[in-house]
Amino acid sequence: MPLVSMRQLLDEAAKGGYGVGAFNVNNMEQIQAIMEAARDTKSPVIIQASRGARSYSQDKFLYHLMLAANELYPEIPLVMHLDHGNSFETCKSAIDLGFTSVMMDGSLKEDGKTPASFEENVAVTKAVVDLAHSKGVTVEGEIGVLGGIEDGHGAGGSGLEHVTDPAQAVEFVAQTGVDALAIAIGTSHGAYKFSSKPDGSVLKMDVLMEIHKRLPNVHLVMHGSSSVPKDLQDVINQYGGKLKPTWGVPVEEIQLGIRNGVRKINVDTDNRLAITGAIRKVFAEQPEKFDPRDYMKPAREAMKKVVATRMTQFGQAGHASDYAPISIEEMKKYYTKAAAK
Ligand SMILES: [Zn+2]
Repeated sequence: MPLVSMRQLLDEAAKGGYGVGAFNVNNMEQIQAIMEAARDTKSPVIIQASRGARSYSQDKFLYHLMLAANELYPEIPLVMHLDHGNSFETCKSAIDLGFTSVMMDGSLKEDGKTPASFEENVAVTKAVVDLAHSKGVTVEGEIGVLGGIEDGHGAGGSGLEHVTDPAQAVEFVAQTGVDALAIAIGTSHGAYKFSSKPDGSVLKMDVLMEIHKRLPNVHLVMHGSSSVPKDLQDVINQYGGKLKPTWGVPVEEIQLGIRNGVRKINVDTDNRLAITGAIRKVFAEQPEKFDPRDYMKPAREAMKKVVATRMTQFGQAGHASDYAPISIEEMKKYYTKAAAK
């Protein structure tokens, strides 16, 4: 099967009432970890690359690794998604390369730091939607601004400064025609999301529910949604790491989101923690080792475990063979028809 459309994956997830994890990658081992987890749990999957990942890997390497994944795991519906595109050009280059889905994050200006106006966001997102849909490619937009900075992208701050306004979300979807919508409800990128277990004062699940009520047919996306579990932090600190105490988004809050329209959940930090903990453990316990495979294998295994756990918790497990995948070629017709209505 070809790489598939994210729109189809999320439409199916909405029908089935589950969420789909979107996991970030930079290299072969991370892709392998995700594909093994998807095979074990029979999960459809979204693999995403940020601008940072594209430059780190020279994105052509990443693209061909994705084709290899697709060839080696033909039973798994697989989407290749651009995370946080900062401009029309960035999204276009991803589409030209073969990504089947792009995020145009017009909530920030092209510098990836300064919050943009509503009008600026609509204009750039609409331009990307027009191009992407003409090629059958899915578009995720963002309204409201997330907290934190990751890979040099983000406005910083706590995540509560630009919480999404539900009325604006409705307007944004109507004016742009995005397939999926990332919203800001107090979460942040990176490991340091909350300074204690989050409650309703910092994690605005009520805002999410209000947006879902007003936009029941739009696929919502939760960014910055690693759970940052204590056991993963502990492994790192036990073997010489220096993480400060921190809290992520509890899995039960994500599951509440999934019951309220969340179809895509972005997870990166948890996998980074798992990999680093596993490598530190080998370095500390077996300092005589120097073959990279001696620590990359346990690292890959540790990430696979986290991903498989999330796939089960999000509900995507068991759904890999529910449907025949639609190629982006066929999706072109779908968008042409929708536009003619
Ligand atoms: Zn994000």
